[in-house]
Amino acid sequence: MHYDIAIIGAGMSGLAAGIRLAHYDKSVCILERHSIPGGLNSYYRRQGIPFDVGLHAVTNLPDAKNKRAPLNRLLRQLRLRRDDLDICEQTFSTIAFPDSQLIFTNDVEDLCSSVADVFPREIDGFRALISLVRENDSFTLSTAGGSARERLAELIRDPVLNDMILCPLMFYGNAREHDMDFNQFCIMFESLFFEGFWRPAIGVRQIIDLLTNRYRACGGELLLRKGVRQIRVDAGSATALELDDASEISVGAVLSSAGYPETMAMCDAGEGDGGEHPAGELGFVESIFVLNQPARDFGLNASIEFFSESRHFHYGRPNDLVDFSSGVICAPRNFAVPDDERSTAHMVRLTHLADYGQWFSLAPDAYAERKNDVLVHQRRWLDSRHPGLTEAIIATDMFTPKTIKRYTGHINGTVYGSPVKCLDGTTPIDNLFICGTDQGFLGIVGAMLSGVSMANLHLMR
Ligand SMILES: Cc1cc2nc3c(=O)[nH]c(=O)nc-3n(C[C@H](O)[C@H](O)[C@H](O)COP(=O)(O)OP(=O)(O)OC[C@H]3O[C@@H](n4cnc5c(N)ncnc54)[C@H](O)[C@@H]3O)c2cc1C
Repeated sequence: MHYDIAIIGAGMSGLAAGIRLAHYDKSVCILERHSIPGGLNSYYRRQGIPFDVGLHAVTNLPDAKNKRAPLNRLLRQLRLRRDDLDICEQTFSTIAFPDSQLIFTNDVEDLCSSVADVFPREIDGFRALISLVRENDSFTLSTAGGSARERLAELIRDPVLNDMILCPLMFYGNAREHDMDFNQFCIMFESLFFEGFWRPAIGVRQIIDLLTNRYRACGGELLLRKGVRQIRVDAGSATALELDDASEISVGAVLSSAGYPETMAMCDAGEGDGGEHPAGELGFVESIFVLNQPARDFGLNASIEFFSESRHFHYGRPNDLVDFSSGVICAPRNFAVPDDERSTAHMVRLTHLADYGQWFSLAPDAYAERKNDVLVHQRRWLDSRHPGLTEAIIATDMFTPKTIKRYTGHINGTVYGSPVKCLDGTTPIDNLFICGTDQGFLGIVGAMLSGVSMANLHLMR
């Protein structure tokens, strides 16, 4: 069997790249080790309840008329209609620190008003930051942008406000500990604050089905349960893929969404490891609490709340299994979703930073016990803030970095991959390219953009 292009991974980036290439009459095959597509943002059923693996919110909701906005450009390139997404916007979200709370919506002026109320002396600096973000050429594929913390400190003197701005942007798209690349900061700032949050009415499955159907309709082949074990390299070019079942396919080029170090580890001996793109160190735990009544009944009104219980927000590998001092709480039904059976169940998702090393070193019994300890701690915390909510819990599920590693193969179970991105997607092998998390555009929209950009840049000739 021979394909012009083989794509490793049927996550958001692999599917989007596949559609783009199939449109241009390339023979394309996506190889996915898992039994369903979606990767880090897939879905499953447990006890009859549909769960999204990760989805809190999709970012980047622009005005439909803004032709240059990333989501609108993406839809055009994938030949999808905006209406197919069944968009349900957030109502409002918050950033809560010990003595201050900011509120934002999909209109950045609401965030400006909130900053003016809570940090009146900083509003000019905040507006200057907005101008800087608007002017920055964030999507450059050739250079990194330097330290976001340093750029912020030049404009805003209050370190608490700086940490409050960084908290959601880091939780939703930063692979680096403690600081953020300034270009990545601008991309995330635009995605969250200029354009904003939405969800498809039925959850992430809506996006995955759209992409999969489109890909197949334009002739692409999707092979599930077909992991790639090895990339055969001959004279500096990838020539074939050896699969888990020992079968082999010959290839003209390979686009991999498995991650940079993960991809290099698949290459024949001698091609090296991640080199200057090492595996990431940031892990997360997330618990999903399914409720038998709306979270709003217990005073949980925001679509998403980003919080830090310390005035200094710590974003790094924790010393303990979990860092409970900060996190994200998301109530999917607090979006403007239809109040009917199509919508996701009433639920609360609670996310914290986690130390992958400690989770990986636990024996199976201890692993189950520690997961339970985390749930107990989180239930207590939820009850202290929203009395009565835990009595409405009818099902729970939880993932750790170990779960992520098991289902996606990402080293250390990272969600955001290597802290050093491979912006142009090239590797030392001349026809092997990287898309998705380790190319550098993160999140659902980012991953799709990455797939399309790398297909356009390297594989359309
Ligand atoms: C818990 C969680 C919550 C999240 N929440 C949000 C959110 O609310 N909003 C948002 O925008 N983003 C969110 N994200 C991030 C978002 O899901 C990812 O950034 C995006 O999906 C990454 O897509 P990708 O294609 O780059 O990589 P992946 O999704 O990792 O896809 C890679 C695929 O490659 C496959 N693969 C790996 N190795 C092989 C191999 N050797 N052979 C065959 N297949 C292989 C994997 O199985 C996987 O399917 C979340 C992620 C997680 C984990």
